Amino acid sequence: MSLPARSTAKSRALFAEALNLIPGGVNSPVRAFRNVGGEPFFAARAAGATVWDVDGNAYVDYVGTWGPAILGHAPEAVVRAVAEAAALGTSFGIPNAREVDLARKVVAWVPSVEKVRMTSSGTEACMAAVRLARGFTGREKIIKFEGCYHGHGDSLLVKAGSGALTHGEPDSAGVPAALAALTLSLPFNDLAAVRAAFEANPGEIAAVIVEPVPGNVGLLLPELGFHEGLRALCDAHGALLIFDEVMTGFRLAKGGAQEGIGVRPDLSTFGKVIGGGLPVGAFGGRADVMDHLAPLGKVYQAGTLSGNPLAMAAGLAQLAELERLDGFRKLEEIGAALEAGLRPLLAKARVPSQFHRRGSMFSLFFSAKPVRNCADALASDREAFKKFFFGLLDRGVYIAPSPFEAGFLSLAHGPEAIEATLRAAAEVLPTL
Ligand SMILES: *Cc1c(COP(=O)(O)O)cnc(C)c1O
Repeated sequence: MSLPARSTAKSRALFAEALNLIPGGVNSPVRAFRNVGGEPFFAARAAGATVWDVDGNAYVDYVGTWGPAILGHAPEAVVRAVAEAAALGTSFGIPNAREVDLARKVVAWVPSVEKVRMTSSGTEACMAAVRLARGFTGREKIIKFEGCYHGHGDSLLVKAGSGALTHGEPDSAGVPAALAALTLSLPFNDLAAVRAAFEANPGEIAAVIVEPVPGNVGLLLPELGFHEGLRALCDAHGALLIFDEVMTGFRLAKGGAQEGIGVRPDLSTFGKVIGGGLPVGAFGGRADVMDHLAPLGKVYQAGTLSGNPLAMAAGLAQLAELERLDGFRKLEEIGAALEAGLRPLLAKARVPSQFHRRGSMFSLFFSAKPVRNCADALASDREAFKKFFFGLLDRGVYIAPSPFEAGFLSLAHGPEAIEATLRAAAEVLPTL
């Protein structure tokens, strides 16, 4: 079937100019479409489940600004809250009541969090959590998992996922080797490897940091007992367990992925949904650990815009809407509808694939083998993904421009959006 070509003249002109002004034309690498080979479109506006580009094309959006847009784009309650807050001052650098309101909400929703501090990004939250774990334990080494992405802090850019993976440079230039040597990166879902790492580094591991449901090599699912095992090993060896819930927090449940898994981490990090689309991160956990932060303790962490009133207002409004709309239950229903429609199409097209879903997060790996970890994800068929991506894009469906990114559903993905997506997939899958 031949389609009318999408017009892309305005996006192409903007990208050409951006390439001269911004490295790679983008302010975050994955946006450059390098992993599917093409050029990004430029957004003009977004509402609900739809994003429009500057050439007037509309797309059903499964990127959702990489996670934050859980209510859909530009939800009225969030837009109103930000406008009201802005009129009263865009930043104070003085404590404001909304910081206390959002902290109260996080502590109420996430039982493992007794105290919380706000940052301006997930990266900052993860960097600070690792520093805090090192300061608290007096140890220097950390364990992370291959393909888990914890932002671009130096200690955490070792075999990281997301853009770092897409660009085939898991270890960034500029990270001192001596620092990277303190980060042990192990395969996800491999408890024996974690046990061995603890035994080989007695009394030296400050923390294990993990995405409880990893979403930065596509979506991986934790095997039964994996997180319980991490908890037990951390306890046995005096290390802290950090759950990076920047992606899963306030998305999979009120209490994040940890609510469903039933394991209590010592520290958790947040971002994305908690900011309602504004730049926010947060980290929190055990009060006795958090109280090691300045000004109480010796671990320094700060931020001029941390607790920014607009960001706090956006986050508070977004979380209130999620609760008011019974959001987590509805997101599961929407996810189940997409899955129920897609699985038969995959079977019918006989495409070797693994479809993973947890609530409103999903990914499709073109792989005949089960995908348990980063290596399995990397072994999936990228050419098939590329064709699938552009086939959908030409039909007005935008999924992340990389096989190593999760898809995100929002409360705005109504039956029409899902049906349009399934129609597009039904046309594209048999061509792979
Ligand atoms: C996005 C992400 C981060 C980094 O957050 P930024 O706000 O992009 O700095 C950290 N951890 C996980 C799990 C993420 O998905």
